[in-house]
Amino acid sequence: MVEQERGGVLYLVIPCYNEEEVLPETSKRLTAKLGAMIEMGFISQDSKIVFVNDGSKDRTWQLIRQYHEENPMIQGINLSRNKGHQNALLAGLMTVKEYCDMAISMDADLQDDVDAIDQFVEKYYEGCEVVYGVRSERKTDSFFKRASAQSFYKLMLHMGVEIVYNHADYRLMSRRALDEMEGFKEVNLFLRGIVPLIGFQSGVVTYERHERFAGESKYPLKKMLNFAFDGITSFSVKPIRMVTTLGIIIFAISILMLIYFLITWCIGWTVPGWTSIVVSVWAIGGLQLLAIGIIGEYIGKRDFEEVYLLWVSKEDPAVGGERQRGVIDGLFSCGKEPTE
Ligand code: UDP
Ligand code: MG
Repeated sequence: MVEQERGGVLYLVIPCYNEEEVLPETSKRLTAKLGAMIEMGFISQDSKIVFVNDGSKDRTWQLIRQYHEENPMIQGINLSRNKGHQNALLAGLMTVKEYCDMAISMDADLQDDVDAIDQFVEKYYEGCEVVYGVRSERKTDSFFKRASAQSFYKLMLHMGVEIVYNHADYRLMSRRALDEMEGFKEVNLFLRGIVPLIGFQSGVVTYERHERFAGESKYPLKKMLNFAFDGITSFSVKPIRMVTTLGIIIFAISILMLIYFLITWCIGWTVPGWTSIVVSVWAIGGLQLLAIGIIGEYIGKRDFEEVYLLWVSKEDPAVGGERQRGVIDGLFSCGKEPTE
């Protein structure tokens, strides 16, 4: 492991969607935390807190601007509309990576333990390019949330998606890892599936997940299911393989049935015409599933190889084009002038 020199530039990236209730407390605690770390010389004084406003409908953006005016350590990125947590996070990370040595992504609601930040940074100094925050327990979550989240991880692992158990998006990434991630141009964003694929030396920090400080979860069941579906279909061909297997099984059954029915037909136990209809229904059904599975296998391969553009900002004319996922609308972060 290559140790890093202390005093690196740390950026915190925090996606916010309708978080006006928690932002005052979050910004206060994070400023205090970063301030203390800078004071100790643990991180550089150029370190920043970057809130990414994900098209909030409440006063989130106004608050971010206000905090920025009061304290330039706090900066903000305004997305042109609600793009979802993963997009907001990626937009934030891709924007800050030019300016930092390491970036930590965390939620706005203080569920991710602020005091664990030192440990993340310590691991980075020890030479880790990626540090995963892993929840030690889930007793503060509701029964439903806990059960659904755990089945989510189990399902993912079962489907062959390489994710870190009980790790959400509380994570440190070095600039090098972020640069690598940029090259990973996946269409359906599921960052916790992408990061392990980047490789590099990684570490783990365990922390206790707190209750949401205020406000409500922005991840209702529907969003969560979409999220899981995206995760599986983006990183795994297993569902397609299941279809293929099912096709093979059904086709095999149809052959067995053919033999059985031929025998019964020979003995003369059946109504005329019945045998041929039943056997062909099964045989064709099985063959169709098998064919779909094989086609799926090809599409799956192409899809995972032909990956493209993650994120484009308005300021980046080199990319643009139809495939852009979103536009960063207002931006006053990372040394750039505020824009509306
Ligand atoms: N979030 C976002 N865009 C969305 C939904 C959520 O930026 O469309 C942010 C939200 O503000 C929070 C983080 O994603 O900082 C996690 O959301 P939440 O706490 O609601 O999820 P939960 O902890 O309940 O899974
Ligand atoms: Mg939360």
